[in-house]
This record gives sequence, structure tokens and C-alpha cells, in this order.
Amino acid sequence: MFCNNLSWFTSSFGDNFKFYKRIAEQYTDDNILDSVKQSLPDKILKTYTDYQSLIPLLYWFKNDFMKWMPQELQCSSCNRKMRLQVRKGDSMILRKTEVYSCDKCGSSILFPRYMKLLKIAETRIGRCSEWSILFGAILNSLSIPTRIVYDFLDHCWNESLINKKWIHLDSTLNYPISFNHPYYYEQNWGKQYEYVLAFSFNSLHDVTRYYTKKWNKVKKRRGKKDEMERLTKIYLRI
Ligand SMILES: [Zn+2]
Repeated sequence: MFCNNLSWFTSSFGDNFKFYKRIAEQYTDDNILDSVKQSLPDKILKTYTDYQSLIPLLYWFKNDFMKWMPQELQCSSCNRKMRLQVRKGDSMILRKTEVYSCDKCGSSILFPRYMKLLKIAETRIGRCSEWSILFGAILNSLSIPTRIVYDFLDHCWNESLINKKWIHLDSTLNYPISFNHPYYYEQNWGKQYEYVLAFSFNSLHDVTRYYTKKWNKVKKRRGKKDEMERLTKIYLRI
């Protein structure tokens, strides 16, 4: 039973587990993947032959297709920082809405954070979660098995199965860092991992070791009890 530690689970993992499982489920839906594939331009589809052609795909996705949503916005009239409020979403389509407002002139900007893949494909704007959700779907639509990875420290990316190995891919970064640079975050952003998990619709994988050169420190952070077995059980029944 998890009753005694349910608050531990909910605060650290709860909403994220549901969220990433709903994303992983959409990766198995052929109708969704077919629609996503239609957003790819011919120049990408034509050059696409194997994983080597991921390079133009990464370039196109980052530079031509997606827009980055900054975390802070300035009012264009008053030139001052806008105040952020977050409204909770109420459906599987929308997980939350960020509302930016200017206290001086009252203008506001809405940024809906979607869970529904096709809404992200339609709006083409977001931060690492929207980018990796959609990029993962694009790769799956090209028959490259791809899953989503979250570090529980506010960043997520993808892993693709290439030559029978799961390889790090981060569409938000510039190539070559975006491809197979698993230690990048620890070495450049000072990440101190406890759990880095990869989400599939029917499994949960502890991929932390692949992203750290400081495994002993990670183990210390986790304490005596490694929670993976328990987390997997919870994930599978969410
Ligand atoms: Zn204003």
C-alpha cells in the first residue's frame, strides 16, 4: 500500500506521471501520427531515409517550424514586465493556461499549455515540453520509435531507438548538442539528478545512469531506498 507515502508521490511525481503517460499513449495512435506527419514539408520527407537525416529534421523543427515561448513577457505598450498567473486546465486537451497581464494598461496575453498533441502541432509554440512532445510524435510518425524523457528538474527531451539503442535527442538545442549528448545538462546546466525517467505507454524506465557521470551522488540523493519498483507499479495503473 502507498497510503503513508502518497503525499510524497503526489508532490514529486503525481501530475507528471499522468501527463507523460497521456503523451505516450498518443504516440501509439496512428491517426494522430498520420496527421502530425502531414505537417512535415516535402523537403524533409524527401531527404528522410534513416537516422542520418535527423540532422535536417532537427534544424527545420527548431529554426523553421517551432516558436519558443519566453518565461517572462514585457508589455509591448508600457515596456514593463507582465504579471503571470496560471489557470489550471480542465480537460485532457488543456493542462493549464498561463495568463500574462500588464498592471499598468491592463492588456493580457494567454499561453495555453496543451496536452493534446494535435493542438500543439497546430499552435507550434511552447517550451521544452511542447517541443519534445511534438518532436517525439514526428519521429514516431517516421517510424523511429521515440519516447519522452523527464528529469523532474524542469526539463524534458526525447530518446529514439537507433541501432537498437535509446539515444538522447533534444529538439530545443542546436545540433550537434541536440543529438546524443546525454551529459550536456549535468556538465553545462549543473543538473543534480535524482530520477530521470523515460515514459512509454506501457512502461517506465529509469534512464538516469545514461545522463550522469556522478552516479554515486545520484544514489546518495535517492537515499537507501531506490523507489523505481514502486514508481513503476504506480505508473502502470495511472
Ligand atoms: Zn501595458
